[in-house]
Amino acid sequence: GDGMVSFRSARNLPKLGADGGDGGDGGAVYLLGDATRNTLSYLYRHRVYTAEPGEKGGSNGRTGAKGASLYLPVPLGTEVWDVETGQLLAEVLEDQGEYLLCEGGRRGLGNLRFLSSRHQQPYESVAGGAATQLNLRLELKVIADVGLAGFPNAGKSTLLSVLSAAKPKIADYPFTTLTPQLGVVDVSEEVGEFGASFVLADIPGLIEGASDGRGLGHEFLRHLERTKVVAYVIDGFCLDARVMQQLHHELMAFAPDFRHKAGLIVITKTDLGEVDQAQKKDLMAWGLPIMEVSGASGQGLKELKRKLYQLTKEAVHKEPLRQEDFETDPLHYPLGDFQLMVKSRVNERLGLPL
Ligand code: GDP
Ligand code: MG
Repeated sequence: GDGMVSFRSARNLPKLGADGGDGGDGGAVYLLGDATRNTLSYLYRHRVYTAEPGEKGGSNGRTGAKGASLYLPVPLGTEVWDVETGQLLAEVLEDQGEYLLCEGGRRGLGNLRFLSSRHQQPYESVAGGAATQLNLRLELKVIADVGLAGFPNAGKSTLLSVLSAAKPKIADYPFTTLTPQLGVVDVSEEVGEFGASFVLADIPGLIEGASDGRGLGHEFLRHLERTKVVAYVIDGFCLDARVMQQLHHELMAFAPDFRHKAGLIVITKTDLGEVDQAQKKDLMAWGLPIMEVSGASGQGLKELKRKLYQLTKEAVHKEPLRQEDFETDPLHYPLGDFQLMVKSRVNERLGLPL
């Protein structure tokens, strides 16, 4: 708000003295961490968010009112990027935490401020400062303990719905939901520990060929970055172990960090018939625990909960990758959890048994 230029006056008398007040400070723009939200989609409605300007100063020395600050609630895990500089400005991780984005303009000064014994009729004032303006990109990364990775129709949404209170759409067209679904899985009964739980995320968008630009895979796969454990969900009906290879290939292209996470393979839909043992044996070559479950009959769900909980407890943050690890040749995957996989790939190339 601008400072005011004003003079006290009385009828029939010349100006008596400066009395213009200061303007008010402009409001600031904050992001507010809000644990109850899990999407940024409400922000699409407007493109520009502005805090209130300060009021200008008044006569009689009155200071203008401050402009109200604007608080935009966003889910935890929101990253704030400056579009112009490409810099990461903030990462919202704290519930009810306030993250200052733009400071409001400073208040202007009224002519009262310029009054002195040698300067009795000041006409000077200072205008309110210009507001700051930022062009931002907000990106939400899910903070979940376990992420479900799988191709459409594998049974991910069904698993989320039977393991937690979340109500995702089942048999939904792969890209109709744009937000990863989260659910809290209560395992207090299974592990005999009061209040034991973990957060499970159904991450839509993985589709065979996403790495060749099909589908929206990469947009969603970023959500996997924050999970501790990746559950590879594979349709057990007409089980085909090659699905795991395709899954791995897609994940490799967009979320290469995933291979440092604890993982397990979940074969779904076991109510539809016996799981093909030969295919299951091929899956074992990945060196990951394999669980067989049915979201429909409930078979194996208790064991799955227990196993997932155990993995989230054990999961430790591993060393970040070095540049050399990103060599394009798939055989350069760092050894470790995926040693067996590399070996089986080598064998596959050489025509040896996996
Ligand atoms: P998503 O695309 O991976 O999320 O898969 P959905 O959970 O939407 O499931 C795809 C289809 O498989 C739906 O028609 C489900 O009803 C069905 N389905 C999922 N899990 C099971 C299961 O354990 N048994 C049977 N019989 N059908 C299932
Ligand atoms: Mg689904």
